[in-house]
Amino acid sequence: MKALTWQGNEKVEVTDVPDPRIDAPTDAIIKVTSTAICGSDLHLYGVLGPYLKPGDVLGHEAMGVVEEVGPEAADHLSVGDRVVVPFNISCGHCWMCDRGLFAQCETTQVRDQGKGASLFGYTALYGSVPGGQAEYLRVPQAQFGPIVVPEGTPDERFLFLSDILPTAWQAVRYADVPPGGTVAVLGLGPVGQLAVRIAAHLGAGRIIGVDRVPERLALAARYGAEPVDLDDVDDVAATLIDLVDGRGPDATIDAVGMEAHGGRLVAAAQKAMGLLPDALAQKVTDKFAVDRLDALHAALKGVRRGGTASISGVYGGELDALPMMEIFDRGIQLRMGQAHVRRWTDEILPLLLDQADPLGTLDLTTHHLPLAEAASGYEMFRDKHDGCVKVVLNP
Ligand code: NAD
Ligand code: ZN
Ligand code: ZN
Repeated sequence: MKALTWQGNEKVEVTDVPDPRIDAPTDAIIKVTSTAICGSDLHLYGVLGPYLKPGDVLGHEAMGVVEEVGPEAADHLSVGDRVVVPFNISCGHCWMCDRGLFAQCETTQVRDQGKGASLFGYTALYGSVPGGQAEYLRVPQAQFGPIVVPEGTPDERFLFLSDILPTAWQAVRYADVPPGGTVAVLGLGPVGQLAVRIAAHLGAGRIIGVDRVPERLALAARYGAEPVDLDDVDDVAATLIDLVDGRGPDATIDAVGMEAHGGRLVAAAQKAMGLLPDALAQKVTDKFAVDRLDALHAALKGVRRGGTASISGVYGGELDALPMMEIFDRGIQLRMGQAHVRRWTDEILPLLLDQADPLGTLDLTTHHLPLAEAASGYEMFRDKHDGCVKVVLNP
């Protein structure tokens, strides 16, 4: 079959790989109809490159049609079912899953690395499970994970249930915005866009959206956010405090994480390191560290005293120094982590079945491409060109 494979730093390519097959009685095989590119893929594409090996199949936001079902998944799925596949692989019955902590599933935990549940398309970083930017996908733990959805609507009505809808839902629920309260969403990529809409749906009174991409600011404004252009302000945290009664919003949501641009900077810095004098190389690295943590620090320092910073952006590494004195003195709650996808899907699904499409799921995808053009989809999503907000690939 054809699949999108990682080939080197910021280099991906559609290549021939072996067809997946049922390996365990709880597996299913899905024929993929739609599969999206995520901000998390940009981390793998860029900054996490050194951890990958050529040929790794990427992708963790997929839906499709069940092609084959292992005997122990047959009570849950039938051939021909239309399903969405959650990005984290959880069994549904271990100690963690019983508590709704599906991203920490003990059955699929990546123990040798001290990590949580295995993820699709996250390479050796999260269990080496081939991803869904491919014609077919092997789904482990299929007796629990895949969500069966009805026919008769475009895929995008349901596709984002695989990741960004539950991620944004969790971000807003963790943010714990009081009814009528204020939340600032930092980063208006696909996750931030949905966080804006979900915050409005769940009763926030005022939503501030921060980014620097004009189309993304405009889209969030259409859904009720007050746009703040990063490039118009010197200090995002001070701006948030000014905008909200000199105190700051009740909650902040970091929907940025290790931004792809930062990844490119670090790659450039690494390359330059060999050539630059030590002091200069250190300067580049320091600058990168600060840039990369901009959104996180704004989330921590811009939220009001006693408020909550909800972090859905993905961070890694050990260099993420936190301003502990401020966090402690200001009494900030911190919530974060991979989304526990199946914990939220029952709450979200009715909104997707509503013909009025209250979360605007059909108003997010800006680009549909055949799988063969996935590489240009990655470039466009990275560079945010052509008004690109979300790219969906159709194998
Ligand atoms: P994206 O890269 O499209 O969006 C990031 C946005 O942040 C961009 O629009 C960019 O312009 C903006 N930005 C960059 N620096 C900023 C700053 N300092 N302040 C404000 N905005 C800034 O990605 P996405 O798909 O929306 O994903 C966002 C983050 O969420 C990523 O880190 C991704 O890995 C993470 N994510 C986490 C989970 C989870 O389970 N926790 C799931 C999905 C995605
Ligand atoms: Zn994702
Ligand atoms: Zn489990």
